[in-house]
Amino acid sequence: MSLLRHQAQKCLANQVTNKGLNAFITASSPDAVLRQVETASEANDSALRGRLIAVKDNICTTDLPTTCASGILRNFRSPFDATVVEKLRAAGAIVAGKTNLDEFGMGSHNVHSAFGAAYQVDAEGREVSAGGSSGGSAVAVATEQCWAALGTDTGGSVRLPAAYAGIVGFKPSYGLVSRWGVVAYANSLDTVGVLARDTAAAKQVFDAINAHDASDPTSLAPSTRSRIRAAIAARSAASNNGAGSVPLRIGVPTTYNIAELSPAVRRAWIKTLRQLRSLGHSLHAVSLPATPSALSAYYVLAPAEASSNLAKYDGVRYGTRAAGPDGDDSGVLFSATRGRGFGDEVRRRIVLGAYTLSSEAMDNYFIRAQRVRRLVQREFDAVFRAPNPLLAAAAPGQVQEDEGIDVLVCPTAPGLPPSLQALKETKPVDAYVNDVLTVPASLAGLPAVSVPVAVDGSKEQGATVGMQVIGQYGHDDLVLEVGGVVGEFKPEAA
Ligand code: GLN
Repeated sequence: MSLLRHQAQKCLANQVTNKGLNAFITASSPDAVLRQVETASEANDSALRGRLIAVKDNICTTDLPTTCASGILRNFRSPFDATVVEKLRAAGAIVAGKTNLDEFGMGSHNVHSAFGAAYQVDAEGREVSAGGSSGGSAVAVATEQCWAALGTDTGGSVRLPAAYAGIVGFKPSYGLVSRWGVVAYANSLDTVGVLARDTAAAKQVFDAINAHDASDPTSLAPSTRSRIRAAIAARSAASNNGAGSVPLRIGVPTTYNIAELSPAVRRAWIKTLRQLRSLGHSLHAVSLPATPSALSAYYVLAPAEASSNLAKYDGVRYGTRAAGPDGDDSGVLFSATRGRGFGDEVRRRIVLGAYTLSSEAMDNYFIRAQRVRRLVQREFDAVFRAPNPLLAAAAPGQVQEDEGIDVLVCPTAPGLPPSLQALKETKPVDAYVNDVLTVPASLAGLPAVSVPVAVDGSKEQGATVGMQVIGQYGHDDLVLEVGGVVGEFKPEAA
């Protein structure tokens, strides 16, 4: 029996054992998977050949439904594959199934799913958060029900679940990976990301999907891609060493050292920085003062875009109609369909977004949030030593070549995964604070990876904390490379 077939069978067996964790909304049939492994093995010699890759259920596939974990799209089947799925299939990968998520990508713990929560079980047997919104993808990878998975990251939805599940979660620079066939949540922030057990696998998947796509108007043009590649090559030639082998200037954002940071996370951060320094890299404190406002700006902008995107689900053009006559004498044709078809969190976002876009609130919320977003982008550009390749000239306030930093290193989430029970006792909006460390890179469209770092404290023995590496736009490979180094770190002897 071939090795690939053996690995596929192992994943299929793990899907059965871990079914209770609810990682998949729809799994591919085992027979179909094994048949595809056989054909893929003969056809192709890419790194993804015969590999089982799970796909978040807001990414369209023709052979399986695409529900977005919602009631309204419960029966939706796409007539086409998303470009990313097409690319994976062309590389010989096999879609393992469609993974659970927070409805339409809105949430941080994968508890807002019309198909029930995806979750994990900790060392003490407690049911704990899988993170969200790509919680199903994270659980599927962590429990080896697949080799890797696709997720989407609008404000942290790949990085946060990866941090909670102890795996790698990579969000590429905005615009590198096609969003065609990916159900929109907030277009200006949405990215397709990768969840995997190590950075090498994440890079293999990323390489297969990182390409211009004419069907996606926000896909980065081939000419810009080559310009960025040339600039990076020139910089690394000038420093006469390959990236990663030169001592790097590591930025430590002091503004990310927030009061909510749990002691275990802070300890892991300090250890990571110490280990980076012991490898010869230098550490530099940087201040990104807009960080606290970034979260509020995100929670104005993302719901605003969402309320507009979700307007099409009305049971007429898209979506499952509610039974019985819709509308009433007061006149809204689809209020019952939309009222019943969306879950609480999605309804909250639609209402919030509709309000911030209304004429009375526009200036005070939406416009201000856009300003904060610009501020966040500028602050990042002011600390990186490489200029932002999307700006024609060096941004005002751009640092000197020898003063800037190469990457930022900071935690992914303020704490360890909460138990599902604890979540029931908190208000839904309390979950928003979990995104405080991931949202800034999303607002600026920067590449960021979360890698697991061991925590050696006695209480959390065996647990890991997600450590985030953020880079300048287009420096995705460097981010993955540094992430790979950080992910190798073992806990120091106590
Ligand atoms: N938790 C954030 C939200 O609910 C991020 C979600 C995401 O990245 N899709 O909006």
